[in-house]
Amino acid sequence: MKKILVTGGAGFLGSHLCERLLARGDDVLCVDNFFTGQRRNIAHLMGHPRFEFLRHDVTFPLYVEVDEIYNLACPASPVHYQFDPVQTTKTSVIGAINMLGLAKRTKAKILQASTSEVYGDPEVHPQPETYWGRVNPIGPRACYDEGKRCAETLFFDYQRQHGVDIRVMRIFNTYGPRMHPDDGRVVSNFIVQALKGDDITLYGSGEQTRSFCYVDDLIAGMIACMDIDSTVAGPIDRPINFGNPSEISVHDLARQVLALTGSTSRIVHRPCPIDDPRQRQPNIDLARKATGWRPTTDLREGLHRTVAYFHDTLVIEGHESRTQAQA
Ligand code: NAD
Ligand code: UDP
Ligand code: UDP
Repeated sequence: MKKILVTGGAGFLGSHLCERLLARGDDVLCVDNFFTGQRRNIAHLMGHPRFEFLRHDVTFPLYVEVDEIYNLACPASPVHYQFDPVQTTKTSVIGAINMLGLAKRTKAKILQASTSEVYGDPEVHPQPETYWGRVNPIGPRACYDEGKRCAETLFFDYQRQHGVDIRVMRIFNTYGPRMHPDDGRVVSNFIVQALKGDDITLYGSGEQTRSFCYVDDLIAGMIACMDIDSTVAGPIDRPINFGNPSEISVHDLARQVLALTGSTSRIVHRPCPIDDPRQRQPNIDLARKATGWRPTTDLREGLHRTVAYFHDTLVIEGHESRTQAQA
């Protein structure tokens, strides 16, 4: 049985990861400061004999004994990471230093949840790991993009300088149950708006694209990435993209959500956020080669499951879900 630390474990991806690791038989220490995470994401794990929760901010040192570290702590939604940008950079950079120091001392394997945002608004499409990106270092997204880029630098320097066994995953847009209803990211926004009968807020023209991966697929990829045996494969000297390459415009996503929910919400246009990337699609050849992983849930099926989750959540919170109530 391995003792595994998951930072950001009460968040959207982290809570699914904790659940999957427990199901596999691991001992899980979940660390979170509840900045964007929710107690209810992990409420069902609280009584589990192999699950432990610690309220802690990763910008402060943490002394525990573990075999593996998944470093997910960081707000991921543009709305939330721009709310306190200095704290976002601190979380990415100081959080990475602390977790790498912990990995170095305990000789634990460590995985960094990096992001497609390191490519910024890309001129190369789809994005391979060899592309260095096009990031505005002083714009409103920089606290996240540059914070994550610096964290990648630290990971590879701890590998070269201290021999730490690292994995850096560049995660592309992932969605699914347990996103916060007020998270601000596009899939949760559109579904919650459609279910409440509110206007669907399309930023800019809606022609910008993203490639959406269902959470269960992403978590399977994350565990496969951690499980790469570097004693056989050698040190993992490159970041690896994980995501679903099927690309869609944000406008088409809005139409698909409306069709799936049967909602009569109107689509309304809002200003495009500064530095909003115009296109995004992962090249996942390296992930396939290194782990054999590939996503298997198509967008329709993933959205269907996510709509069901938000419907239940809104009912519990006492909001009337107009489309479902009418059905
Ligand atoms: P999330 O906001 O739901 O989860 C982040 C978690 O980190 C939250 O529980 C939050 O409370 C916690 N946290 C934030 N700052 C902290 C701190 N200083 N100390 C301790 N805990 C802290 O977001 P998510 O979608 O689950 O993202 C998880 C990770 O994956 C993030 O690092 C994010 O950058 C990365 N990622 C996610 C996506 C995606 O599409 N979901 C894409 C790329 C990268
Ligand atoms: N650290 C931690 N837990 C540990 C070991 C280290 O949180 O078990 C933190 C500690 O705050 C330190 C940082 O990680 O500042 C980097 O550790 P490292 O050993 O690389 O550097 P140093 O201790 O020399 O600053
Ligand atoms: N977006 C939108 N309406 C919303 C929220 C987001 O049109 O209510 C757009 C946003 O401008 C971006 C895309 O959807 O082009 C994805 O945004 P999100 O915040 O989910 O993630 P990111 O920009 O980090 O990929």
